[in-house]
Amino acid sequence: MKGFDEHREGFGTREWAEVTENIQRGCVNDCLYCYAAHNSNRFGQRLRSEWAREELTQRAFIKSYPARDGIIMMPSTHDITPFNVGHFIRVATLMLQKGNRLLIVSKPRLSCIIDVCKSLAPWKDQILFRFTIGAMDEQLTALWEPGAPSPTERLEAMKYAHDSGYGVSVSIEPMLAGPFETGRVISSVLEFHPETIWIGKLNKVRIRVVNSSPVITAAIFQIENQQTDEEIIRLYRKVGHLGCVRWKDSIEMVLKAHGVNQ
Ligand code: SF4
Repeated sequence: MKGFDEHREGFGTREWAEVTENIQRGCVNDCLYCYAAHNSNRFGQRLRSEWAREELTQRAFIKSYPARDGIIMMPSTHDITPFNVGHFIRVATLMLQKGNRLLIVSKPRLSCIIDVCKSLAPWKDQILFRFTIGAMDEQLTALWEPGAPSPTERLEAMKYAHDSGYGVSVSIEPMLAGPFETGRVISSVLEFHPETIWIGKLNKVRIRVVNSSPVITAAIFQIENQQTDEEIIRLYRKVGHLGCVRWKDSIEMVLKAHGVNQ
């Protein structure tokens, strides 16, 4: 789809969109690695232990939205949940009515994606979904993303969006394991013809991750072992030939450091 798969300079969300929008503080998914939760705590806005509490911001009540250059990504620091889906649809509609293009990023809940797909159908061609699945192993996602839907539900939501005629894409960022598990995610989503599959490491795992138990300590060690430079290069050799695969900056840096051809 036009404009969504362009090379952008920058890191993180800036690789995907020119503008980011959110309508809420806090995120019920409560991912252990959450960058937004880490920053919110660091800048004294919200204690890390309270991140799962959902609270609408003024942006949920805007009455108009201008035509913007480039892609708008929404949300980036929360998800679409039963708590906010009505507000999300209302704000997205304001954006789309002005001709904007919208990248909807989510660890998707099936019921919410059904609502979104039905409500935004007139603007289908201006929308690309980006569904995050870091692993197919339900134990891994339950550990790292305790409040988020299971991988099975995320695949069901992706199927629904695809079957409804929407463009879909995938984020395997952060990877919650190594090359094998990442390969399983890719195999599971290919039938939905994703426009792109973005792959990125779990960055700064020791700084960002809330480590409250020996189980999490063990999971951190495991991820570090599974995402060494050697394993990342192995992953590149395994799936780099797929035309839809895109590498996030965390992996580009590894490939560049080792002179691996891209
Ligand atoms: S889904 Fe995103 S915003 Fe929500 S807790 Fe996880 S990383 Fe943070």
